[in-house]
Amino acid sequence: MKFVCDRMLKRLAIWLRLSGYDTLCDESFQTREKEDTFLAKNFPDRILLTRDKELYRMRIAKGYPARLIKSSKVWEQMKEIKDLVNFKPKAERCTLCNSQLRKLEKAEAEKIVKELGLNDLLNKELWYCDKCKKLYWVGYHWKNMLEFLKKHGLVEE
Ligand SMILES: [Zn+2]
Repeated sequence: MKFVCDRMLKRLAIWLRLSGYDTLCDESFQTREKEDTFLAKNFPDRILLTRDKELYRMRIAKGYPARLIKSSKVWEQMKEIKDLVNFKPKAERCTLCNSQLRKLEKAEAEKIVKELGLNDLLNKELWYCDKCKKLYWVGYHWKNMLEFLKKHGLVEE
């Protein structure tokens, strides 16, 4: 299951990436066209998530998959697609660029951690985005993410 989100759903896109889903959002589009015209006719293999009724209508008319999102709050948006998506933090995709993360081997992990001066991460399981040079690990922020999901009834207790 792959997604493409309009720019109004950026936070939803980040949650989808955090949960391991291949999700495009505005920064990935190389186009001079208006976003709605562009999204109406591209990515037929992805479910478009949008808050724009006109765009939704154009997309459905083409026979391409789309979901119209009603809420402006991210947790309500997440509930609207709960039938499609299993929200759960995973270190699989970069939240910034959607690239697949690479799990670091011990030697490389040590090198990067030392370069960044993050020695307390030495014994953690680390993932890396080669494009953004961003390091990911299971830590405090994961606990916060899980609490957010629990609070809004998006995961089983
Ligand atoms: Zn990245």
